[in-house]
Amino acid sequence: MKEIPDNIVLQTVSEVALKLQKPVYVIGGWVRDIFLDRPSSDIDIVVVGSGIELAALVAERFERRRFLKVYKNFGTAMLNYQNYEIEFVGARKESYREDSRKPIVEDGTLADDIKRRDFTINAMAISLNKKDYGTLIDLYGGMEDLEARIIKTPLDPDVTYSDDPLRMMRAVRFAVQLDFEIEKKSFEAIRNNAHRLSIVSIERVMDEFNKIMLSDTPGKGIRILRSAGLLKHFFPELEALYGVEVMDSKAHKDNFYHTLQVLDKLAQRTNDLWLRWAALLHDIAKPQTKRFDKEAGWTFHGHEFVGQKMVKRIFKRLKLPMNEKMRYVQKLVLLHLRPIALTEEIVTDSALRRLLFEAGEDIDDLMMLCEADITSGNPDKVKRFLANFEMVRTKLRQTEEKDRLRNWQPPLSGEDIMNAFGIPPSKEVGLIKTAIREAILDGEIKNDREEALVLMKEEGKKLGLTFKG
Ligand code: ATP
Ligand code: MG
Repeated sequence: MKEIPDNIVLQTVSEVALKLQKPVYVIGGWVRDIFLDRPSSDIDIVVVGSGIELAALVAERFERRRFLKVYKNFGTAMLNYQNYEIEFVGARKESYREDSRKPIVEDGTLADDIKRRDFTINAMAISLNKKDYGTLIDLYGGMEDLEARIIKTPLDPDVTYSDDPLRMMRAVRFAVQLDFEIEKKSFEAIRNNAHRLSIVSIERVMDEFNKIMLSDTPGKGIRILRSAGLLKHFFPELEALYGVEVMDSKAHKDNFYHTLQVLDKLAQRTNDLWLRWAALLHDIAKPQTKRFDKEAGWTFHGHEFVGQKMVKRIFKRLKLPMNEKMRYVQKLVLLHLRPIALTEEIVTDSALRRLLFEAGEDIDDLMMLCEADITSGNPDKVKRFLANFEMVRTKLRQTEEKDRLRNWQPPLSGEDIMNAFGIPPSKEVGLIKTAIREAILDGEIKNDREEALVLMKEEGKKLGLTFKG
């Protein structure tokens, strides 16, 4: 049995509770993580009495009264101290209605409170009471399940998941975060209750989904989400990637497994959530663009364009940020085939310049995505493809050194053009700007002000404008 580590928060809570004469325990994630050797700074305290009253006294002891957040409606309070986030709650009993995951709550005993917890491994408590400080209270075999690495509910899983369907997402999330197995009975109960996910707000579902995305093996998590029947209820586009079609005895690859493989490969190289999202969505439009051609076999022409459009719709529906994060994912989806085109023997400088210009700051992320996109089972092929990409990287580097297009700013601004010809903002300004940009990307002029000025004069003349100097 493990000693609980010396901890200023737990000791203080213990002293305050002794004065209050109320039984108090640390419970849930913190207890689980102590036994898993993943020390955590989230501490959940449960008291048989008022969580808010206890929290207020603890806050006073820490001289943090002003920072205490009280949620009267929930009977909970939250305090930050050092790097700890401490949540206080009074022991409670919960009962559920059919149409909502929000329970009816009444005061209860410690046993009632343990009973309402989602998983046995999350339902262990440690006493902070003077008489038995440090004693583990494990009413549902949490320790055994922790050792066997099993996700299991304390009560009947059918009832547990139906009461609060978010727990199904949490089961998958913990399975992948901790590398645990969901117990068979639990898994079946999830399959039976998967449709109940519809009563959970999409924000909560996505909180869990993004935790899966940030785990070491997000692809594995998504595979479980599908086999548990959950995925289709909030992410039908991803589900649609699943499966293989055969024509003239030619099969295309299963885009679901391919995508998850790319995602897991990329996850080994980056913790960036949005780059991982780009991997998740890079082939999302393959089902829509799939055609079979007698000669060419299976094709997915334009899936990068259609995919880019789908990104926006998907982000909107899933209530993900509609800001530069979304545009970044769109950009990578749109460009994910471009580096492949650059692996050809003969590549024009103009093609290299255009990619640098369009990818901008994100060129390295794009290359990382493309390298992860190689999922061939043939090691020779993989080696060859990677070598090709290395060559592309070199060429891009050379072009960048020469032309500095990564953070390209036009050598002449709209303002410059308006002043030069004494004209107001107008279509002509845009036309001239575009002509200059295209000439630079095509390598007709250098990326500098002098050559741009010459071209500007010529273009202005064509448009009937008089150069004023
Ligand atoms: P992490 O902080 O890594 O997400 P955690 O186990 O601490 O893991 P929290 O969401 O912080 O998870 O919840 C704290 C505790 O509250 C859990 O350990 C569990 O006992 C309980 N809990 C949280 N959500 C639910 C739920 N939907 N149903 C039942 N119990 C829950
Ligand atoms: Mg927690």
